[in-house]
Amino acid sequence: MKAHIAVLPGDGIGPEVMAEGVRCLRALAERHGHTFTLTELPFGGAAIDLTGNPLPERTLHTCLAADAVLLGAIGGPKWSAPEAKVRPEQGLLALRRALGVYANLRPVKVHPALLGASSLKPEVLEGIDLIFVRELTGGIYFGEKRREASSATDVCTYTVEEIERIVRSAARLAQQRRRKLVSIDKANVLETSRLWREVTTRLMRAEFPDVTLEHMLVDSAAMHLIRRPRDFDVLVTENMFGDILTDEASMLAGSLGLLPSASLGEGRRGLYEPIHGSAPDIAGRGIANPYGTILSAALLLRHSLGLTAEADRLEKAVFEAISARALTPDLAGAGEAVTTQVAGDAVLNRL
Ligand code: NAD
Repeated sequence: MKAHIAVLPGDGIGPEVMAEGVRCLRALAERHGHTFTLTELPFGGAAIDLTGNPLPERTLHTCLAADAVLLGAIGGPKWSAPEAKVRPEQGLLALRRALGVYANLRPVKVHPALLGASSLKPEVLEGIDLIFVRELTGGIYFGEKRREASSATDVCTYTVEEIERIVRSAARLAQQRRRKLVSIDKANVLETSRLWREVTTRLMRAEFPDVTLEHMLVDSAAMHLIRRPRDFDVLVTENMFGDILTDEASMLAGSLGLLPSASLGEGRRGLYEPIHGSAPDIAGRGIANPYGTILSAALLLRHSLGLTAEADRLEKAVFEAISARALTPDLAGAGEAVTTQVAGDAVLNRL
């Protein structure tokens, strides 16, 4: 097949991990007879330095015309001064909005070889295979903000349509998995959560009777994620709860550097990125973990290009590379760590 992929390396370790993601995509295309056109574009802080705009026109237009977008990471101290008028993060919010992506998928699996890498006990972690579906474009992050001399206000709003579309995305995923959906809210306190619960209950009964639905309060979900994470299959929640809980869930896997994400809207086009940031503390040293980016490329193959076999193959190659202990310093013990590029080689050798 022919596909056009916009590649946004970004800042800090972004270009380092992206180089490995791109190598894997090129290798897969060659092996399976696909033609992937990969267009690398400035984005984030790097784009501010070049053009003064974190999302330059050409980058935006190329992303909108592409079948999928693969992003490294953006941001860093250089662009974070409190008085800064233009910030890399503005580019990311604008890109998500322009692409119309409202569902952020974050799968979390724990590799048996890494049971010791998490701060939790191995017996709690064994067999975890869950996926978060976070609403990405509504809620308190996008509501009206007001600041007065002695008070401040952030408004949280959700519409029925916004809730329906994200719950549908999550329920469809649950149908392809273990048919268990947990919807997380704070319905004992928040009006938006009461609407969320009503809409979810009605929609699931009408459209997904084959999926078991459980409602859970966000505080309780935070606790159960650590106490019995294996019991979860698909979790769906609003923007801010999802932001917090997905970082908590990432720690189940042992390192931020391992986890991929997909942001999807109505069509097939999506934005794919590792969940970590630009890690300025280790940038430029060639030691960042590239697996989150490579696994994001696998999600891209599956969700935007429909290349399931190739996606499975890439995920298997990462699994085998980890089994062979091709681990960067975030996961390896002193003296046995490999570089970003050697970790990438380990995946390529297994493709
Ligand atoms: P971070 O995710 O960049 O780093 C947190 C810690 O995890 C650091 O110690 C870092 O070294 C480590 N880490 C992260 N990714 C790693 C990898 N692939 N391999 C090995 N170690 C890894 O979060 P932060 O330090 O809070 O933020 C740094 C910058 O990144 C900030 O400017 C922030 O705004 C930005 N950020 C961007 C995104 C994004 O691009 N979507 C997401 C989060 C943070």
